[in-house]
Amino acid sequence: MKYCPGCEEEFTDSITVCRECDCELISEQQWGALQAKRKVEDEEVFVRVAVAGDRFEADVMKDALEKESMPVLVRSFQETSFDGIFVPQKGFAVIEVPEQFKDRAIAVLDSLAPVPYDT
Ligand SMILES: [Zn+2]
Repeated sequence: MKYCPGCEEEFTDSITVCRECDCELISEQQWGALQAKRKVEDEEVFVRVAVAGDRFEADVMKDALEKESMPVLVRSFQETSFDGIFVPQKGFAVIEVPEQFKDRAIAVLDSLAPVPYDT
């Protein structure tokens, strides 16, 4: 089965795009992760596990954690500085996961070597 992240309908595997909302459909596994994420965002306490230096680093960290099926929140400093009062000392964003994922998340992030492109 595939699922539409927009209208939450189920589709057969032969369909790739939801006709209702023109959304690309996601796999059952991604759907499960998305559901888990939506659920924990309502209920869970997120804790900070890392500070990303820039948007690229934030994306790398988020991808690595999501690959482990962890819900991830990226709270950008830039989004909280709209009032002009909050000036970030350093970093681009904080990476947060639900408290029960904290140790696993830190282990995953620790294993993220700075990846040089060796093709
Ligand atoms: Zn849809």
